Amino acid sequence: MPEPEVLSLVEFEDTPPGHRSGFVAVVGKPNVGKSTLMNALLGEKVAIVSKKPQTTRTQIRGILTRPDAQIVFVDTPGIHKPRHRLGQAMVQAAIQSIPDADVVLFVVDSTEAPDAGDRHIARLVRERGEDRPVILALNKMDRLRPDQVKAHTEAHWALAPTPEGGAPPEPWDWMMISATQIVNLDKLVDRIVAHLPEGPRYYPPDQITDQGERDIAAESIREQALRHLRQEVPHAVAVVIEEHEERSATLDYIAATIVVEKDSQKGILIGKGGRTLRQIGADARHEIERILGKQVYLELQVKVRKNWREDERELRRLGYASEQ
Ligand code: GDP
Ligand code: MG
Repeated sequence: MPEPEVLSLVEFEDTPPGHRSGFVAVVGKPNVGKSTLMNALLGEKVAIVSKKPQTTRTQIRGILTRPDAQIVFVDTPGIHKPRHRLGQAMVQAAIQSIPDADVVLFVVDSTEAPDAGDRHIARLVRERGEDRPVILALNKMDRLRPDQVKAHTEAHWALAPTPEGGAPPEPWDWMMISATQIVNLDKLVDRIVAHLPEGPRYYPPDQITDQGERDIAAESIREQALRHLRQEVPHAVAVVIEEHEERSATLDYIAATIVVEKDSQKGILIGKGGRTLRQIGADARHEIERILGKQVYLELQVKVRKNWREDERELRRLGYASEQ
């Protein structure tokens, strides 16, 4: 069957051997410096405040790409909201983000002794994180007085699973940083990367955050793809938004890729003469237009990536996977 011209089949860009990638849950009390730290790590362009209405889904706070690794920092509204008091919402948020993370970045304020709030988060991290690596970042070291160093570091170490004094045992790791003075941040990133599993890039290298619109578009396309493919390939579908550009106040351009595992699935997805894919595109476009309240020019392509869904957990975290 000849491929319709509108569809291009592109292999996924290879990442170098040994490339690492993964998700880092950023947790910590309000005011310990999580936002400042993210800004310092990712650059000022990061949109901390998403336009997206709050959902229960894990939110991506920022993406850090280096040649050898890609770190996706995630958190949830309840944890990062300033002035938010510890409560049910935060517990829920923490419970959701921690088990899905490869590494937990637990930020504390080193200038204060840990309090009930820190201990509460530590307990959640221990309970929900199981054996995940935890990096305890003792922030604001620029303001830590010499006479506080010993008492405060030891008190914070005690947040780790075996509070017998001394440095926290594996998989807990700790370091002193200053987000405002940019002290030890490179080292912090190195430590995080060292804990990440080998894996490919999840996002284009120039992307530093996700946007609500990207999610809306990806979800709509995936939903339509699954609706059309339910009988045939209900599982192996992922959608990646390659480009989402505001062409004018009334028109958005969106280029998206539907990723499947096998050539046979690609065939089913495209349909005879491209009919199925065109139908998916049309239905998804209507849905996106309805949600965004503007016209959308939608370009779809299909890629095959072998064993794309081998890691269901990873896919779920990205919101890509579909488990019926
Ligand atoms: P969040 O609620 O955890 O996101 O905390 P923010 O990032 O909003 O920071 C709370 C306050 O701590 C702000 O006034 C920051 O400027 C300050 N802060 C953050 N990191 C540092 C640091 O490394 N040193 C000092 N001295 N202040 C910091
Ligand atoms: Mg904040």
